[in-house]
Amino acid sequence: MKIKKGDTVLIISGKDKGKKSKILEVLPKEQKIVVEGVNIRKKHIRQRKTGEKGQIVETPGPIHISDVKFFCSKCGKPTRVGYKIKLEKNKQKSKVRICKKCGQEI
Ligand SMILES: [Zn+2]
Repeated sequence: MKIKKGDTVLIISGKDKGKKSKILEVLPKEQKIVVEGVNIRKKHIRQRKTGEKGQIVETPGPIHISDVKFFCSKCGKPTRVGYKIKLEKNKQKSKVRICKKCGQEI
């Protein structure tokens, strides 16, 4: 998975199309992600004690990664994620993610 928790994505299909939000959870097995405020499902929580009110809790449901596009916070555009090998100060090589549009590390 090229995207990870905390990344900002743009929703490109479905009822939340056009929304821009943060990834709350990544489900690599299902190729799905949970995005803040997207694919909201209402869950009814029944009262536990008498006199207590039942509640409706809104939780975001998982959506497929093909329904989103990575959104680069550096250039402010929806983009694709690329990789680059970076040489660290200690001469160790590390793989970093870059924005395919502006080339900046993300
Ligand atoms: Zn960018």
